[in-house]
Amino acid sequence: TYDLELVQLGKTFPNGTPAVVAFDLRVEKGEFVSFVGPSGCGKTTTLRMIAGFEASTSGDILIRGRNVSDLPPERRPTSTIFQNFALFPHMTVRQNIEYGLRVRGVAAPERKRRVDAMIDRLELGDVADQRAPGLSGGQRQRVALARGLVVEPDILLLDEPLGALDANLRKSIQHQLKQLQRTIGITFVFVTHAQSEALTLSDRVVVMNRGRSEQISDPYELYTRP
Ligand code: ADP
Ligand code: ADP
Repeated sequence: TYDLELVQLGKTFPNGTPAVVAFDLRVEKGEFVSFVGPSGCGKTTTLRMIAGFEASTSGDILIRGRNVSDLPPERRPTSTIFQNFALFPHMTVRQNIEYGLRVRGVAAPERKRRVDAMIDRLELGDVADQRAPGLSGGQRQRVALARGLVVEPDILLLDEPLGALDANLRKSIQHQLKQLQRTIGITFVFVTHAQSEALTLSDRVVVMNRGRSEQISDPYELYTRP
């Protein structure tokens, strides 16, 4: 089975906008897939449907063979990293990371074990008890990743997570994402309007246009036969 299958997935907004049209896609476990294309082509809407933030109006979403189309976000085996990281400002780093485990009803000792492991893995020990507003950009980015990964999702969804970062920080998160892909074998779905970034990071690139998947190819093909 595939980690993710989109079957004729579609979304027409109540105002009549066909944001996503008959989208078919199969993603293998551990693959890094990017959606690219001009603003308004349907990348974010597709990602939000996979996450469960937006209901589809046709088709199905399967994760590891299970139809999740009707499940709310907290019952889907996905985590989403947003562009601005969307950390909770009134919470410490530790509390931010723990949040998803609380929502899912994980017991306190298990929460502590998993949060500690994430703090270790993403080297956040020095700032574990600080609140989000005091953190550097790189630290915020690592907290966002820790918060997403701690619930052990099958799929990590990234919505333009590098858009607002300076070049150095962008390089460092790119490196971190590739390392996570190697070490924990998680599946990535990445949305960006920066095609070069998609080419650097991805195993496969989905080019979208007007709500449709226009082309699915490996980055090498896109380089040589654009
Ligand atoms: P992005 O650049 O990430 O695609 P946009 O600026 O297009 O973001 O959209 C920002 C927010 O506004 C999103 O939550 C999107 O769902 C919503 N939005 C975009 N277009 C429309 C629209 N035509 N009508 C209502 N909401 C919209
Ligand atoms: P992208 O992420 O590729 O920039 P989006 O998925 O945000 O594109 O948007 C796809 C289309 O759906 C656009 O035409 C956008 O204006 C429209 N759209 C997005 N959100 C809404 C909304 N809440 N209501 C109506 N139209 C929307």
